[in-house]
Amino acid sequence: MIAYCGLNCSRCPTFIATRNDDDAAREKTAALYAQKFGMQLKKEEINCDGCLSEGGRKIGYCQVCEIRQCCLGKGLEHCAVCPEEPCEKLVKFHEFSPEAKAAFAALKRG
Ligand code: SF4
Ligand code: SF4
Repeated sequence: MIAYCGLNCSRCPTFIATRNDDDAAREKTAALYAQKFGMQLKKEEINCDGCLSEGGRKIGYCQVCEIRQCCLGKGLEHCAVCPEEPCEKLVKFHEFSPEAKAAFAALKRG
């Protein structure tokens, strides 16, 4: 469940709520995103099948993620195996998400 940017989808609260079809967890996640990112989402919108799912549901930034599109276009498993790494897209996202940055560093260490 390691995404192209390094994030671990199986730890994402949206992914967990979706997998368990848990409305109470969806409500908690919506409240967390409102507090953390100023996102206004209804619990019905808290659904994601993970970054690696083809055509599956995604949420927020992951719906429009350039990193995902880039890896798919290059046919790469993730950015750690890309000769252009670290590119501007990845650096920008890792500045926004220290969690992804740390996970990506661990991915590179192997
Ligand atoms: S869609 Fe992008 S930001 Fe979201 S987990 Fe995948 S690579 Fe990371
Ligand atoms: S160019 Fe950047 S976003 Fe694209 S695969 Fe390489 S490291 Fe990832």
